[in-house]
Amino acid sequence: MKNETTSSVEALMEYVTRRHPGQEEFQQAVEDVAQDIIPWLAAHEDMRDYRILERLIEPDRIISFRVAWVDDKNNIKVNRGYRVQCSSAIGPYKGGLRFHPSVNESILKFLAFEQTFKNALTGLPMGSGKGGSDFDPKDRSDNEIMRFCEAFMIELHRHIGEDTDVPAGDVGVGAREIGYLFGQYKRLQNRFVGTMTGKEIAVGGSELRTEATGYGVGYFLSSMLEHHDKRVEGQVVAISGSGNVALHAAEMIIDNGGVVVSLSDSDGSIYDREGLDAEKLAWIKDLKQGRGGRISEFADKFDAKFTEGESPWTIECDIAIPCATQNEISKEDAKTLIENGCTAVVEGANMPTVSDAVDLFLEAGTMLAPGKAANAGGVAISGLEMTQNAMKRSWSREELYNCLSEMMKQIHDDCTEHGSAIKNDVCNYRQGANIAGFRKVAKAMMAYGVY
Ligand code: GLU
Repeated sequence: MKNETTSSVEALMEYVTRRHPGQEEFQQAVEDVAQDIIPWLAAHEDMRDYRILERLIEPDRIISFRVAWVDDKNNIKVNRGYRVQCSSAIGPYKGGLRFHPSVNESILKFLAFEQTFKNALTGLPMGSGKGGSDFDPKDRSDNEIMRFCEAFMIELHRHIGEDTDVPAGDVGVGAREIGYLFGQYKRLQNRFVGTMTGKEIAVGGSELRTEATGYGVGYFLSSMLEHHDKRVEGQVVAISGSGNVALHAAEMIIDNGGVVVSLSDSDGSIYDREGLDAEKLAWIKDLKQGRGGRISEFADKFDAKFTEGESPWTIECDIAIPCATQNEISKEDAKTLIENGCTAVVEGANMPTVSDAVDLFLEAGTMLAPGKAANAGGVAISGLEMTQNAMKRSWSREELYNCLSEMMKQIHDDCTEHGSAIKNDVCNYRQGANIAGFRKVAKAMMAYGVY
């Protein structure tokens, strides 16, 4: 059998660009994987002929639908909802819902594609999907959020199920939104089953789910540094974002003796030379998750600098942890970080580093932990929420804590097993994560034959 499409990265990208025109984020996510998988496939002819990569690039299905709802002033609003069901090779479709004005098909396809490898890396039986809407939750009242979520589920409910597709949260969708969505699902289906994860404990959620992504980032960082004979203690860490992932990553890193000097939001970033402590972090948590304030208020209250419209990547740091959004570290940012002595980057967000910046980091021998490995802790605990719901019992925080740390360690070790050494004997974690994730999904797809 001849397979021209995966004969080179260029050939594959020509094919992808032709079939998915204008979908830049999706093309970027595919290229990121292709760069490691195509050379690897050359040595695994058996798999290459199965055209696994070409099949994964084509989602199982994409559902797009109208969401009509009524705002507080009685205006009728129309948004677009989506669910991209990417792969069910190793389990039900699984991945978050994102509510953000930037949401479109390209972004959800890239996220669903990445989720395939991330979910496989957890070692749990989860396929991949992603969904959401271009709805902007900013400045919307609680009632508007509820009405939107209910309207969204009116269509989504027929496409999901505990063994079919299990959505969770992502940007703009937290436990509150999951509550409204799951409540509507339960009403429409008249079934109380684990069709969504990230639920409040009161409605069948799991302990530790809220903290899991950020804590997982912290665990991954510790394993990565340890693997290279380093420790978190005393390292200066710049973090972007101030959502769930950023705040819990910061918490774990501070606990481990790291000096977290920055956080950010869409207005700009703060720089606290002394480093955040538990008290300051608690204040920020209350600000962002309770009062809904802006990060600039931190600089008014504490001795810190706020820089409007800037990301934290010009700050001198040993470690950078992007936890805001895709493509937030540009090539210029990467150059500055490397010049300033940054030796490790851990992606808390999905695909936060542009391709050219990834190349620079790899050339420089920077330890670069890709999001699909480093931020897998969230979906891993989601997987355990599914298990708890299916068993109709729940595990303690302690038990889940142990599971999370073990899973993150395993993900790290899988990456080092498949990642070759780059400059300074640093592991190529991107390669490791891509190959380890791909192998698991590929084996399942080969078992099914062609479909
Ligand atoms: N949205 C999160 C992610 O990017 C969590 C998905 C889930 O728990 O299903 O992995």
